[in-house]
Amino acid sequence: MKITFDNSYAALPAQMFTPQLPTPVASPAIFARNDALAATLGIDLHAPDAAQVFAGNHIPDGATPLAQAYAGHQFGHWNPQLGDGRAILLGEVIGSDNIRRDIQLKGSGPTPYSRSGDGRAWLGPVMREYLVSEAMHAMGVPTTRALAAVTTGEDVYRETRLPGAIITRVAQSHIRVGTFQFFAARRDLDALRALTDHVIARHYPDADGPAALLDAVIARYAQLVAHWMGLGFVHGVMNTDNVSIAGETIDYGPCAFIDAFSHGAVYSAIDQQGRYAYANQPQIAAWNMAQFATALIPLMDDADKAVADFTAAVHNFAPVYGKAWLGVFAAKLGIADPGSKDMPLITDLLALMEQDGADFTATFAALSGGQARDQFIDRAAFDAWSARWEPRKAPDADRIMASANPQIIPRNHRVEAAISAGVAGDFAPFDALLAAVTQPYQANPDFARPPLIDEIVTRTFCGT
Ligand code: AMP
Ligand code: MG
Repeated sequence: MKITFDNSYAALPAQMFTPQLPTPVASPAIFARNDALAATLGIDLHAPDAAQVFAGNHIPDGATPLAQAYAGHQFGHWNPQLGDGRAILLGEVIGSDNIRRDIQLKGSGPTPYSRSGDGRAWLGPVMREYLVSEAMHAMGVPTTRALAAVTTGEDVYRETRLPGAIITRVAQSHIRVGTFQFFAARRDLDALRALTDHVIARHYPDADGPAALLDAVIARYAQLVAHWMGLGFVHGVMNTDNVSIAGETIDYGPCAFIDAFSHGAVYSAIDQQGRYAYANQPQIAAWNMAQFATALIPLMDDADKAVADFTAAVHNFAPVYGKAWLGVFAAKLGIADPGSKDMPLITDLLALMEQDGADFTATFAALSGGQARDQFIDRAAFDAWSARWEPRKAPDADRIMASANPQIIPRNHRVEAAISAGVAGDFAPFDALLAAVTQPYQANPDFARPPLIDEIVTRTFCGT
């Protein structure tokens, strides 16, 4: 297989990564190929050695396989030493759209950063990441992508024995807030400077230094989290090592889309305090930006001035996010000229949805067709709300709403069903679900249906 690599991260200072080959696996088989993405990258996923390449058994010419170093706050607790423990960056490719992207294998064997882990992934999280990241992309949300997925022919051991798998993840980069924290905590200014210069050149060419970079990252991250909120998406592990500097959604571990709406929705089995509950996501995002700001301070000549300036920049997250959130939900309601007076209209609808346990996606999808009333128990309350909404709708409200309210999301129970079938060797449900979620605005009653009571998924688990 020929991949035209153009690797820039591997040329950065040596302490930023460790050269590391994937560990070969017994008998790889490809079960998912993203041909559209592959075309952009100039990669032929049907080459005879494709399974070998995306399993890490064959290293294509031009690759510089490495594991990246990073640190992070996990559930608020500082961990100075994380890094790619089960992922290997093969290199970067500049696509036909002129965008530089990382090609990374995830689940490809141990690295110096594996700590007690086995460096592997099992099929379930690989399937979930593939489905959800491609759905997010189809819904216009910045995200890492899935290029290919293989089963390894080897078992991995979690609570039980499970089939191993590897996903090939594509991202604008895998640099995180935690990458900056790693070098800031070590007072390694050479690496911190090189990383900052690399990130500015690669992702924010208009930024003229760390202060402008901070503002730009805050703007992208605020927009990203507003997107999530508008889809009822609960990321589940908003640790600083899972915050992409490029503003993409990354790490589809215990993520989920809310069915019956609740502000406090938590799915992750390990998030017992609800730190990363749906409604907490904006505040956590601001906290993550404060950690990013802290990591940039050592670069500044006048630390006192930098602390004052960066504090103001982090405080600016809330208004920037608020504006993005209003824009997202106004579009969902077909409002063309949103103002602060629309905020109670939106929050009152969400409160009513929570009170009645209305399905998040189905309710918004039904607003355009005029069928949303059926989603509520307290119809009089909905009618009263609707009377306030009606005069705010734009003349082309239905058109605005149609592209802001997906009909199809990767519903948790369908993802779980696809995983169960995949573990049993049947990938047809995965293929059907992938086809449905990558056409999110197309009517598709089977996949649009909310879960029945006995189908509801209340807990998701990390990929480890
Ligand atoms: P995550 O929860 O996926 O964000 O991962 C947090 C940290 O744990 C990262 O440093 C991962 O590389 C590492 N990690 C997660 N799972 C494994 C595994 N199975 N083997 C080795 N390292 C892992
Ligand atoms: Mg992670």
